[in-house]
Formats: sequence, structure tokens, C-alpha cells
Amino acid sequence: MKTIDGNAVASKFRARLADEVALLRADGRDLALAVILVGDDPASAVYVRRKVEQATEVGIRSIERRLPTSLSEAELVQTIAELNADPAVTGILLQLPLPRHIDSGRILNLIHPDKDVDGFHPMNIGRLANGTGGIIPCTPLGCILLLETVVNDFRGKHAVVIGRSNIVGKPMSLLLLERGCTVVMTHSQTRSLPEIVREADIVIAAVGRPEMVRGDWIKPGAVVIDVGINRVERDGKRRLVGDVEFAGMAHADAVTPVPGGVGPMTIACLLANTVRAGKAMGPNAVAYGDFNFR
Ligand code: NAD
Repeated sequence: MKTIDGNAVASKFRARLADEVALLRADGRDLALAVILVGDDPASAVYVRRKVEQATEVGIRSIERRLPTSLSEAELVQTIAELNADPAVTGILLQLPLPRHIDSGRILNLIHPDKDVDGFHPMNIGRLANGTGGIIPCTPLGCILLLETVVNDFRGKHAVVIGRSNIVGKPMSLLLLERGCTVVMTHSQTRSLPEIVREADIVIAAVGRPEMVRGDWIKPGAVVIDVGINRVERDGKRRLVGDVEFAGMAHADAVTPVPGGVGPMTIACLLANTVRAGKAMGPNAVAYGDFNFR
């Protein structure tokens, strides 16, 4: 069984992005990622710091907007409108979760789709669904790039996606479908999940339940991508585990570890989306509503 090293793939990917950013800069094109953090959630602050550090490493300038928890929804709407209108800002990232008094769905829909580096805007999800490009959500994009390191031909492969969230499971299924897989989407209401997973050549686990996917669910030779991040106590120590029982995967062809699998790719893909958005917004900017994004 091969362990897919997400740190190594992400590091190579970032190096490639840094080259691309340098070429853009030589062409007089500066990329700037606006990062909005509302409130003082310590985990969100850590995520934002990591994203900003890695953006800086590849040459993307960050514009941090730290806003108080007491911020009104109207004030946040105003901030997004300013960033949408600012031609120097090529990407906008709104760190979630937002304080409870703010409607996240409404706010996310206000980010200009061409600056939506998370790929959560309905326009981008729609573009993905009808196969016309757009910005792809970072985590499923990272999963596909990791899969591509071990799968030569996706056509006709049976893929089972466990979890149907808007940010992972659903876009993941669309990406696999686009590549020619036969995709089964499973979720909390699915019956006989182990039997369904046993048919799979490719398994994507995005559930949020520690080590739920057991070794005997996995067909010999399958490729397993573990998106889950679960904090558990083991032998008196706090540890991170995925949704997959890693120790039971010896008969799989390849598996991503947790940590060090999908996680590092998610941030690298955020940077990739920022580069992609910035390129599209150059002198020949793609106008709002232009569907030929690729
Ligand atoms: P979510 O809670 O939005 O969705 C979980 C999905 O799992 C739901 O669709 C639900 O139907 C399904 N589910 C729940 N119980 C199930 C069961 N018993 N059998 C089958 N399906 C079941 O979660 P999410 O945002 O998609 O995240 C999933 C996991 O991935 C979490 O652990 C999260 O922390 C992690 N995650 C990791 C990254 C990363 O960068 N590595 C990014 C996003 C999410």
C-alpha cells in the first residue's frame, strides 16, 4: 500500500504556482487576495494565518480585513461590495464560520464569482455542474490532484463518495463524473454503506466521523482519499484522525494519511484558485456573466 504524501504534492504544486505568479508579475500583473476574518475564533485565526503565510511564499499579496464579532451584516455586505469593486483585489476569501447573527449563505453569494477563490458561489457550482469551468472548491480539487498522482485513467472506474456536503461531497462527485467515473454519492441516509463501498475502485470519505470506514469495506487495490479531520483522545493524548481506519488499509493500492494528506492540498488549491482568478481578471478581464472562464 502506498501512502500518498499530500505535503510533498502540495509543496511541488506551490513551487509551480510561485513560477506562475513570477511570470504574471513580470507581465505587470499583481495578485492580491483579500482575506476577511470576522470575530476572534482562535481556530479561524490559525487557518487565516496559514493561508496568508503560504500566499506570501508564492508571491501573492494578502489584504487582511479583521473585523469585530459585533459587525453588522450590512457592514459586512459593504466590505464585500468594496472588495468586489476594487480592481487591485483579484481574490476574496471569507473565513468561515461567521458569527451567528450573520447569514453566511447570503454573504457568500455576494462575493463576485470571478473573485470567489473558495468556489462556493452558486455561479461557480453551476459552472462545475454543467462542465464549463469556473473556480472549483479547494478541497475536492485537492483530492482530484492527489488521485491523479496514482490513477492514470479514471474512465469507467467505480467511485464512491461518502458525504454530500456542498463544500466537499457534491463538488467531488461532479469532478469524478467529469473524468468518466461511475459515481455513487452516499450520505447519512444511505443503506448498506459497507457493501456499496466494497464495489469501489476509488473511495472518498468526507464525513467527519473518526475512522468510520473500516479496512474490510475496502476492495483490494482500491484508492482511498480521506478528507476527514477528527480530534480524538487516544491513550490520554489528543490526536487527529481521519474518517478512514488507516491501519486497516494494507490491501488498498494507495491511501492519504491524516494529517499530511488532503489538508495541505486544500490551501495549495486556494492559492491555485487565486492565481486562476487573477489571470482571468487581467487586462482582458472576464466580464461578470461570461461563462467562457477557462
Ligand atoms: P458536513 O458535516 O457538512 O457533511 C458530512 C456528510 O457526511 C453529510 O453529507 C452527511 O450526510 C454524511 N454522513 C454523516 N454521517 C454519515 C454516515 N454514518 N454514513 C454516511 N454518511 C454520513 O462535513 P464536510 O464539511 O463535508 O466535512 C467532512 C469532513 O471533512 C470533516 O471531518 C471535516 O473536518 C473534513 N474537512 C477537511 C478538509 C481538509 O482540508 N482536509 C476540508 C473540508 C472538510
